[in-house]
Amino acid sequence: MLNKQFEEEQRHAGIGMTSARTRDRLIERLKQQGITSIATLEAIRNTPRHLFIEEAMAHKAYEDTALPIGFDQTISQPYTVARMTELLLEAGPLKTVLEVGTGSGYQTAVLAQLVNRIFSVERIGALHRRAALLLDQLKLHNVSLRHTDGNGGWPTSMKFDAIIVTAASTTLPKSLTNQLAKNGRLVIPVEQEGEQALCLVQRTESGFTQELIEPAHFVPMLRGVIE
Ligand code: SAH
Repeated sequence: MLNKQFEEEQRHAGIGMTSARTRDRLIERLKQQGITSIATLEAIRNTPRHLFIEEAMAHKAYEDTALPIGFDQTISQPYTVARMTELLLEAGPLKTVLEVGTGSGYQTAVLAQLVNRIFSVERIGALHRRAALLLDQLKLHNVSLRHTDGNGGWPTSMKFDAIIVTAASTTLPKSLTNQLAKNGRLVIPVEQEGEQALCLVQRTESGFTQELIEPAHFVPMLRGVIE
């Protein structure tokens, strides 16, 4: 099905609901909401969000809303994708980034255009496989995907310049903070007493600093993998 969507995108590039003008409107809206990173805004402008959602929802692809992607999961709101990306990039260029929660692969695709290499894990096999196919079709070859539980981090001893978690966690998973390189940044939605907030964790010489950024709305980070 994504194949068909991709071919349609090729044919219809530049018209109607996925036109350059429709995308420009989204970029304007993100700027109005306080997104300032030009690189982030350009990556969002260049990413065909309509290919990451169900065809029936394509007309809503460039609205600033979260949308269903099946399996009770959602593609994040563009504002949220932009804000988290901008927070990761704030401290300078990034070589390696780990994402927990590939989902549709949209946030992965945005980051792939901005960093040297993006690694992403997803616990739902069907979402993992669909994202792998689409990111390959989009020729984003600096992406490595794994079907695994992100609570354990990336399954090697690798360290990352930045880690982004796109599902809400009730704790700060140790295996993720451990995989942060020195001066590395982790952006994660943390849920406490039913309230979620975006949290920025930075690894310093002596330990970690934590900063609450703003309220957030994410699906929960769960445990284990499903096919
Ligand atoms: N970044 C995604 C957001 C998808 S929603 C996008 O742009 O579309 C969050 C995703 O996190 C879901 O696909 C969910 O299955 C996944 N997830 C939740 N807990 C997880 C875990 N422990 N490990 C890996 N993925 C997880």
